[in-house]
Amino acid sequence: MAVPKRKTSKTRKNQRRTHYKVEVPGMVECAECGEMKLSHRVCKHCGSYKGETVVEK
Ligand SMILES: [Zn+2]
Repeated sequence: MAVPKRKTSKTRKNQRRTHYKVEVPGMVECAECGEMKLSHRVCKHCGSYKGETVVEK
């Protein structure tokens, strides 16, 4: 097995991992209740979409 000649530095390792993002993007704040929701989806908390209540609780 090949052995790396040099140890990967913290900087190099971190630079490589800049593409690692936390969670799925596309989360926006709901206009109605202010909770985080997926954009272009009905809000899970208040059931509203585009300022209208689509799903009643
Ligand atoms: Zn909401």
